[in-house]
Amino acid sequence: MIVEPKIRGFICTTSHPDGCAKHVADQIAVVKERGPIENGPKRVLVIGSSTGYGLSSRIAAAFGCGASTIGVFFEKEGSERRTGTAGWYNSAAFEKEAKDAGLYARSFNGDAYSDEMKATVIEAIKADLGQVDCVVYSLASPRRNHPRNGETYKSVLKPIGQTYTNKNLNTTTQVVDEVTIEPANQDEIDQTIAVMGGEDWEMWMDALKDAGVLAEGVKTVAYSYIGPEVTWPIYTNGTIGAAKEDLEKSQRALDEKLADLGGKAWVSVNKALVTQASSAIPVVPLYISLLYKVMKAKGTHEDTIEQMDRLFRDRLYGKADPQPDEAGRIRVDDWEMTDDVQAAVDKVWNEVNTENLKELADVEGYESSFLRLFGFGLEGVDYSADTDPATPVPSLESAD
Ligand code: NAD
Repeated sequence: MIVEPKIRGFICTTSHPDGCAKHVADQIAVVKERGPIENGPKRVLVIGSSTGYGLSSRIAAAFGCGASTIGVFFEKEGSERRTGTAGWYNSAAFEKEAKDAGLYARSFNGDAYSDEMKATVIEAIKADLGQVDCVVYSLASPRRNHPRNGETYKSVLKPIGQTYTNKNLNTTTQVVDEVTIEPANQDEIDQTIAVMGGEDWEMWMDALKDAGVLAEGVKTVAYSYIGPEVTWPIYTNGTIGAAKEDLEKSQRALDEKLADLGGKAWVSVNKALVTQASSAIPVVPLYISLLYKVMKAKGTHEDTIEQMDRLFRDRLYGKADPQPDEAGRIRVDDWEMTDDVQAAVDKVWNEVNTENLKELADVEGYESSFLRLFGFGLEGVDYSADTDPATPVPSLESAD
């Protein structure tokens, strides 16, 4: 099949198997180029391992630390007639590369929020690795079926307390318009916390601990975002921010629960980057386009792989301390949040409009990053050649 991008709003409904494989290979090359990560974990579970920050975490763990990895994700397999999701092809490529490098890799496709998935993964850890030294929690989902009360919760991206109006980039038409979002009601806030807050992270860690599969000194990390004041009403002070506050509460609870193992839970605040999750947030794509321009000019731009490499290499497993902020969070958004970067973005934020968009913002960079998420626009891939949409994830195939 010849596969082309089909973009519908902030999602691309097709993905390219070979392009995704190249995207994974490029990320592996970044980590290898930087050399081995000394003192890194050797057995790592990544929940949400198929795209974005979770995929890059898995790559940094495997190809930086030499770790065996178990990955959990929710993706669609391709068929003869239809492409699968990018995360499916990423995971297929990751496993192949890991095998070639002599690294153990096993994947599970299904609902990470369920008790069944937790039990299945625990059995796999027991059978194959004994225990894990590191658990990365990187889920981003619009909904969660609660395993205990049977409710389905939906997350919303809304401000809290007041209507929010700001500039917005329509990434399809490249028009800078305005978006107005009405505030969430209490039920929407609660549902967003139920989906993106810390309860499921705690459920995973409780289940893993009860099963005795967490090693002495285990570390666990979940990801958050803070960003600049222009996005606070829709992010930090909005429904998703309320969920991230809940995640931090879970981090503190997990610290106590892991103390007898000498373990530690972290929240890492990461940089704003184009991922499937972030492209759905109003206002954020415009901010990211302006940010990319400023950070690329300064030479401090990073993508998810550079971020996760730095997290593992310098903060979680580095020789120096992880440099937590006053709230105890790791900050790999530090380069995004420097005063000069923020002042530069702030200035162009006020000036940007449809006419000067291409001059002030890195729209091309945004667009190419977005397409790369789905395996399009990668160098060295022959997009006119036939590709096999039914590419399997090896460990899932052998499980059938
Ligand atoms: P993403 O959409 O690229 O990845 C989400 C992952 O979760 C995928 O692997 C997907 O398969 C998996 N997933 C979703 N629902 C699932 C389910 N029910 N069961 C199993 N797996 C499921 O998102 P991302 O941007 O990498 O986000 C990961 C984390 O990083 C989130 O907590 C997000 O808030 C945080 N973060 C993102 C940014 C950003 O700019 N993208 C910045 C800072 C922090």
